[in-house]
Amino acid sequence: MTQRVYNFSPGPALLPEPVLAEAQRDLMALPGVGSSVLEISHRSASFKKIIEAAERDLRSLLKIPDNYRVLLLQGGARLQFSMVPMNLLRDSGKSADFILTGSWGNKACDEARKEGGVRSAWDGRETGYDRLPDPAQLDLDSAAAFVHFTSNETIQGVQFRGEPEVGDVPLVCDASSDFLSRPVPIERYGILYACAQKNAGPAGVTVVIIRDDLLDRGSDSLPGMLNYRNHVAAGSLYNTPPVFAVYILGLVARWVLDEVGGLDAMAERNRGKAEQVYDLIDASDGFYRGHAQRDARSMMNVTFRLADTDLEKVFIASAAEQALVSLGGHRSVGGIRASIYNAMPVAGVQRLCQFMNQFRKEHGG
Ligand SMILES: *Cc1c(COP(=O)(O)O)cnc(C)c1O
Repeated sequence: MTQRVYNFSPGPALLPEPVLAEAQRDLMALPGVGSSVLEISHRSASFKKIIEAAERDLRSLLKIPDNYRVLLLQGGARLQFSMVPMNLLRDSGKSADFILTGSWGNKACDEARKEGGVRSAWDGRETGYDRLPDPAQLDLDSAAAFVHFTSNETIQGVQFRGEPEVGDVPLVCDASSDFLSRPVPIERYGILYACAQKNAGPAGVTVVIIRDDLLDRGSDSLPGMLNYRNHVAAGSLYNTPPVFAVYILGLVARWVLDEVGGLDAMAERNRGKAEQVYDLIDASDGFYRGHAQRDARSMMNVTFRLADTDLEKVFIASAAEQALVSLGGHRSVGGIRASIYNAMPVAGVQRLCQFMNQFRKEHGG
């Protein structure tokens, strides 16, 4: 078999090896079923078991309260940029607040603007999205339809430590790039959504956790596929779901539960991995320059720069020669980005750190 590399891709990203191995083993025929998961009806008892187990394990991992629905949808996080304001903002007579800490929040805000008024409650643009707002800096509208924030800005590598305080206004979170990486108090949210392909599975499925009372807000005139109520009523089987992505999402949730030991253990492991890289950056006498301010640093996407873009190119190419791949920053910001999601083993981070130390020695730091 081809040797696997350490893949620091921001997404689709690394999957846990036991998950890939199980999917490979059972691809031709699911145990007790005799057909591939790719071949059975999404309405069959066998698939029902798969989707119900995935939801049950997500509920157990995140301790999701009973008054929340868990939806497994398509269209990625990007479709949620539209679905959230279509269901919560359109015809509400209200506006929505956005806390902007990076690129993805801005994209969500741009889509919401098509459905109604939006306000910026805080915008970190001036300093290149390297920090989080102080609570006192938030300019919130107590009558807003919702407040949106991005728990982890994947491109800039800036991550909230907890939830912004927003009073009674429904809090909406794009948690795409730190979903299942740590415990989250779901009861503080109106909606939390995450595409799976960073931390929770392959591309094609998006998890939406929504509080019951918000389901009444969507107008019946919305296209059926875009109304949360239809997906709730159909148990995420309103149309044919992305069966393979749901299956893998279920295996990943099981892996976090059984092999990692839940979200506290997952967070602990993730913190340990991130600290290794940040400590190295801090001890590099400015050879590596972290983008995010210390208290805003992401545990998932470590973003940093070298002296100039030529040296960064050499860094990325040399790393690839040592089987450390996809370390280039997002095309919009450049630099280096090491995405070290749940599935990145500690050994992969250690290899990266060895490489970074060696590279610094060789290039005069
Ligand atoms: C990757 C990502 C998205 C985009 O997800 P798609 O599934 O491609 O639509 C949105 N928000 C965040 C925070 C992301 O990391």
